[in-house]
Amino acid sequence: MATIRFKALETASARTSRTVKPPSEKISDYFGTHVFSRNTMQKTLSKEIYNHMVAAIDSGHQIDRKTAEQVAAAMRTWAMSKGCTHYTHWFQPLTGTTAEKHDAFFDLSDGSPIETFSSNALVQQEPDASSFPNGGIRNTFEARGYTAWDPSSPAFIMESTAGKTLCIPTIFVSYTGETLDYKAPLLKALHAIDKAAVDVCQYFDKNVTKVQPTLGIEQEYFLIDTALYQARPDLMMTGRTLLGHAAAKGQQLEDHYFGSIPSRVYAFMVEFEIEAFKLGIPLKTRHNEVAPSQFECAPIFEEINLAVDHNQLLMDLMDKIAARHHFKVLLHEKPYAGINGSGKHNNWSLGTNTGKNLLSPGSTPKSNLQFLTFFINTIKAVHDHADLLRASIASASNDHRLGANEAPPAIMSIFLGQQLSNVLDDLEKKVRTKDKMTPEQKTDLKLNIAKIPEILLDNTDRNRTSPFAFTGNKFEFRAVGSSANSSHAMMVLNTIVANQLTIFKAEVDKLIEKGQGKDEAIFKVLHDYIVDSKKIRFEGNGYGDEWKREAKKRGLSNVTTTPPALDALVSKTSLALFEKMQIFTHREAEARHEILLEDYTKKIQIESRVIGDLSLNHIIPTTLRYQTMLIENVEGLHDIGLKGIYSKTQIELIKEISERVTRIKTNVDAMVEARKKANVIENARTRAIAYCDKVKPFMDIIRDDVDHLELMVDDEVWPLPKYREITNVR
Ligand code: ADP
Ligand code: MG
Repeated sequence: MATIRFKALETASARTSRTVKPPSEKISDYFGTHVFSRNTMQKTLSKEIYNHMVAAIDSGHQIDRKTAEQVAAAMRTWAMSKGCTHYTHWFQPLTGTTAEKHDAFFDLSDGSPIETFSSNALVQQEPDASSFPNGGIRNTFEARGYTAWDPSSPAFIMESTAGKTLCIPTIFVSYTGETLDYKAPLLKALHAIDKAAVDVCQYFDKNVTKVQPTLGIEQEYFLIDTALYQARPDLMMTGRTLLGHAAAKGQQLEDHYFGSIPSRVYAFMVEFEIEAFKLGIPLKTRHNEVAPSQFECAPIFEEINLAVDHNQLLMDLMDKIAARHHFKVLLHEKPYAGINGSGKHNNWSLGTNTGKNLLSPGSTPKSNLQFLTFFINTIKAVHDHADLLRASIASASNDHRLGANEAPPAIMSIFLGQQLSNVLDDLEKKVRTKDKMTPEQKTDLKLNIAKIPEILLDNTDRNRTSPFAFTGNKFEFRAVGSSANSSHAMMVLNTIVANQLTIFKAEVDKLIEKGQGKDEAIFKVLHDYIVDSKKIRFEGNGYGDEWKREAKKRGLSNVTTTPPALDALVSKTSLALFEKMQIFTHREAEARHEILLEDYTKKIQIESRVIGDLSLNHIIPTTLRYQTMLIENVEGLHDIGLKGIYSKTQIELIKEISERVTRIKTNVDAMVEARKKANVIENARTRAIAYCDKVKPFMDIIRDDVDHLELMVDDEVWPLPKYREITNVR
């Protein structure tokens, strides 16, 4: 095994960077060339059909048969002119990855070969999809699932060295219409927030007819040379290292963050960016992150459905392009213990058809009252549904970040910054629900509100420890995991805000009916929300133990593991919310809950098997061979009469090795027993909790002994590439 390690090191160190040449010097020359965009549609469709399409996309209405036929024909001609031979419905099942099943344009007509692509093939497919997670919704005898075209996300061409495929973004539902993917619930939530936000906008601006959430996703990731990756079965099978002592130099010197990008990595970044640009993914930023061999990229924000699709596509693309550079991309939240993990910061806001960002402070009291309305309603929504929001980011891998002494805590809180905190405090003091506001109070408030400057982006006023921070003109949900599909968290966020806006509208209207002025009514309701949601606001250090104590006092939840965190997905409140906002039926929410629990159990189960195998079959045999050498050496010393001090230290070494080896074996055996016990538990939640509480703890104690052995055993024979070898890329 050690030979594999050294071969891998030799291979990795001999690599040179790949030459990458962009198709043109200007990105704008080739941006979006692989996308069946509005622009392409305009060029390839008749005016009438094009207008139908645009109207259908903007309003979310169904596309009629005739339009679909013409779009299918234009799409095929366009795709074939670009070299596509196949097409696929591209969807996002609950596995976390994307799925595709390719069909050729090719067909036989009366025995003669032809190229075809009907509107049926565009609009709907029935993939043989019985093995996608469904949480008991589909029985195998009724295993039909349907993918249905989502025209709001444009079709695109996936290029590989072997050929090109036209990909059509779709939703994935069961035969009986229940959702089985990430996209369908997100689209429903977007519909809900559009309606709720437009209604509220009417108080301020009658021209607003559409509100679309916007999203900019910062993606963190690690890179490792493929040769070293392949010499680490734990990385290959679980995405993270289950063993490995920290390197002498980790991130203490903070010399990686924003440092110069290593040349091989740079070539990789340039190439995946080129491919991303062709697919219309507007990447903007690239840099080194805090941990060694950790990096980040971020696009310009887009309409949320597109932003999510683009992020899913990007993760896939990065993996494919990395292979050309002999890199493996690690999207796991915590590939290495002891150094920072990775997140996927979701920058979220609301944009109107009139081009306004509703979370951007304005220049007049009126626009600022609108800003405060959306701002405070978001805070209230997060306050009321903090547990559900926490559940939306829960996964086995994200547990390594949330609450584990590192970026962001499992306690949901919102950071606002000094200035806006003051504005809210002011509002709270000056407006009282009961008594009438004096004209002076009103003017005073208005003047004060007018003082919120348009650009709040003050870099000194940033709090990197908050899971949900306001950053000038958007909220940044920082607790989403790096490997997650953002859809789920964004579906929850948009649903809770939509619901909140609906409640707000009803409350304000009621006061207006009672004879209050509009602004005063708005002020009063906002005042109550500020008071009610105070406990969710936190401006201090989210990583400190003090905050844990304080949060407890405030009655905020701090659930650090996934199985209990997921309860909030199916709590009474959440089920009612999902039903009211028409996102999930109870059955759908419960199915999703079960799928997430199953996913958790399986992930821990796999990790525990891998660590067992590595310990028993790789670490212990190597260690015992080394120990035998030590024993022979001591015997040799005795033979030539050198006992006492010389052999004493060596005997101690031998003893410690024996103790650790024995403990590892005992703990692996006990872990296997715990697994067996957990496996027979019927209930998905109880089983997941057993894996969390009874199986997972063994992994930490086994690792501790193995990592100590790593420090004792001869480096020449140690089988697994070490942290210092795998966390440095060039
Ligand atoms: P940071 O300071 O956190 O690095 P940036 O200002 O660079 O943040 O923006 C991070 C992300 O937020 C980018 O993807 C950016 O496009 C996105 N963003 C900016 N404005 C908005 C908005 N109105 N809605 C959604 N995302 C936005
Ligand atoms: Mg950020």
